[in-house]
Amino acid sequence: MNVHKAKAFGAEAPDADLKELSINRREVTPHDVEIEILYCGICHSDLHAVHNDWGATTYPIVPGHEIVGRITKIGESVTKFQVGDLAGVGCIVDSCRECEYCHNGDEQFCEKGWTVVFNSFDRKYGAITYGGFSENIVVDENYVVRVPENLDLPSAAPILCAGITVYSPLKHWKAGAGKNVGIIGIGGLGHMAIKISKAMGAYVTVYTTSQAKADDARRLGADNVVLSTDAEQMKTCPKQDMILDTVSAKHNLNTYIDLLKVDGSLVMVGLPAEPLEIGAGNVVHGRKSFSGSNIGGIAETQEVLDFCAKHNITADIELIEINEVNNAFERLEKGDVKYRFVIDMTSLKKR
Ligand code: NAP
Ligand code: ZN
Repeated sequence: MNVHKAKAFGAEAPDADLKELSINRREVTPHDVEIEILYCGICHSDLHAVHNDWGATTYPIVPGHEIVGRITKIGESVTKFQVGDLAGVGCIVDSCRECEYCHNGDEQFCEKGWTVVFNSFDRKYGAITYGGFSENIVVDENYVVRVPENLDLPSAAPILCAGITVYSPLKHWKAGAGKNVGIIGIGGLGHMAIKISKAMGAYVTVYTTSQAKADDARRLGADNVVLSTDAEQMKTCPKQDMILDTVSAKHNLNTYIDLLKVDGSLVMVGLPAEPLEIGAGNVVHGRKSFSGSNIGGIAETQEVLDFCAKHNITADIELIEINEVNNAFERLEKGDVKYRFVIDMTSLKKR
């Protein structure tokens, strides 16, 4: 396989700072596009992966899975894109393309295992994948989405993970007019969930541990804000048809299951490393469900980008340069971000 060197930023150990690395990218094969990365968001999953919270990290790791950029090169068989087009890449860069889930557009449930944009063994090319904290990336055109021209590019980047991760379950559980939807946690995912569920027409209640974010939640579109540490507020808030849980650390799920209506669902998208406990009685009384959801397929990722373009939705971001990435990781760990860090990746090229 022919490769070229690319500048990237990554970590060589769980407790090491991210630093500049030189990585190999494959040269475009017939169905590949090469993308000059302009912006890349920082998701809490990048933090979990760098710190090896889930126990599966191979080092060095180059994180980043909220990628927007411009196509600079196309393989000879590419039909979907031309040089100069805007392009987006999220978590999924390949899958088996044959199983029932790939056929249904749910590549994230591929039976043979999908290839993650970083820290994943790419069976086809026999190499570990490196993510979006880099000057460029090479991806099969079928796993690249179009970024609508009317979206502000840096604040559109988080749609590639935070946006799709909340859009997919909100749609699956039919958030919309006449439905009470709860969102737990106002972080990267949570703040996009407020905007998207509101645009779908739901009555949106937000549960936050941060009094300081309460006013912002209303500005973001929430109808109702509950400080989850206040027992009285938790007792008197409306019952929910669905609650989307975006929390990144261990917390008590049963207090939220108790806030569901009969047949309501608590849907987990947050990925705390520790197991979470559910009381049998909490789900039995009221025929309630506890479930989860994992990002969304490629077609649905295109759908959420188009939905956001139509409803004028982007993330509230803090735009940083690559030199500030270690400070951003520390702040994200403490929940000190409003509400997504996005890296201007041209700052890596200029170093
Ligand atoms: P984030 O920006 O750090 O937001 C997480 C929010 O959770 C915080 O802002 C905070 O909100 C709340 N929180 C944090 N610690 C808490 C605690 N101990 N108790 C209660 N609430 C707490 O993270 P993110 O990027 O949105 O990601 C959230 C989680 O989703 C991560 O675990 C990430 O790995 C996971 N994720 C999953 C998928 C998927 O496909 N399922 C995709 C992307 C990310 P308040 O201050 O408002 O309480
Ligand atoms: Zn993510």
